[in-house]
Amino acid sequence: MVKYDTVLIRFGELSTKGKNRKDFINRLFSNTKYMLREIGGLEFRRTYDRIYIKLNGADPEIIREKLSRVFGISSFSFTERVDSDIEAIKETCLRIAQETEHKTFKMITRRHDKSFPLRSDDINRQCAAEILKNTDLKVDVHDPQLQIRVEVQENDTYITSEKIKGAGGFPAGINGKVMLMLSGGIDSPVAAYELMKRGLRVEAIHFASPPYTSENAKQKVLDLAAMVSEYQGHLPVHIVNFTDLQLAIYKRAGDPYAVTLMRRMMFRLAQAACEKYNCLAIGTGESIGQVASQTLESIACINSVVQIPVLRPLICMDKLEIIDLAKKIGTYETSILPFEDCCTIFDPKNPVTKPTIKKSEYYEAGFDWQTLCAKAIEEMETVITQPGAGTEDYL
Ligand code: ATP
Ligand code: MG
Repeated sequence: MVKYDTVLIRFGELSTKGKNRKDFINRLFSNTKYMLREIGGLEFRRTYDRIYIKLNGADPEIIREKLSRVFGISSFSFTERVDSDIEAIKETCLRIAQETEHKTFKMITRRHDKSFPLRSDDINRQCAAEILKNTDLKVDVHDPQLQIRVEVQENDTYITSEKIKGAGGFPAGINGKVMLMLSGGIDSPVAAYELMKRGLRVEAIHFASPPYTSENAKQKVLDLAAMVSEYQGHLPVHIVNFTDLQLAIYKRAGDPYAVTLMRRMMFRLAQAACEKYNCLAIGTGESIGQVASQTLESIACINSVVQIPVLRPLICMDKLEIIDLAKKIGTYETSILPFEDCCTIFDPKNPVTKPTIKKSEYYEAGFDWQTLCAKAIEEMETVITQPGAGTEDYL
């Protein structure tokens, strides 16, 4: 029996060198350990281009599922470790071949330790010869059913016949901080996931309008944040009381400009929160054309109130693609729970689809939003969310 005792992890997108490479690996190493923190007995080790986890009997299925969620991993394999000795290597390769149902195979060897006396080609040949002699398998170098991979390190060699695709991207947290506008909807949690996948550290800002929006609605947002926090550790959610601003906007402008003004205020507040918490960009779950406020004219009008970059990872995605991703990352079922959002409560019947900056400024000149914004920022509350918080509390 092949005994898969060690996970071998390969890195993605590692064209970076020097300090960046070091940061990449350090962060990937700690993120990987964090993801597997609840599994006892694991031993972690790293070299300049691999991470190894000795399983010590831990359940491979759980580890497979968790590792597939760590950004920065390009692929990983469950391997059998043997001493770096050609006889031991041959013996394990043969066992893998004997246990397979496949008919064709190919040997793929990587010699990390150049002092090993045989070159990769020689190792391939010797192992293939052993398999050809003792089984009915045939070599097929172009389209093999079975690929036997051998990675030779100084003392240890890792052998496997599988290669599992990782999540790709960059280790969460190495590329700076972004303030994501997080609603209780389907889109923004998916945007959090996409931003984290590019190595950004995400903080969230949420606009609540109590008593028009309930505690349940707020808790839903915190639960969504806790779910996506799994990918980066913990996730602070800054909660802004938006009620006074929203009421003032409605009083001043009403239908059809209220949504535009509301979103311009949200962006201003998000930018203020960025300054307060050292974020370099705002993130949103906007997607072109999805609703009235997401036409290009609308986006331009809303975006014009801020000076920092706004990252919109979902901008060109279809709703169905976004829903698929929400299901994949596990936020969908929570997102569709029917709790009122501040936007849905005040939702005007005929929001303008082609707002102008001039008209927005005209309305804004008519009330003291500056004071209301300053107050909202000052009274902002922060909740740190962490993986593992359930949704049961408010159901
Ligand atoms: P979502 O599913 O993310 O709520 P949506 O399709 O409902 O998006 P909008 O309500 O127009 O679209 O919101 C667009 C984006 O604005 C959201 O993806 C989110 O980033 C931000 N946003 C909307 N409402 C709020 C809120 N109450 N608090 C924080 N951000 C919000
Ligand atoms: Mg929404």
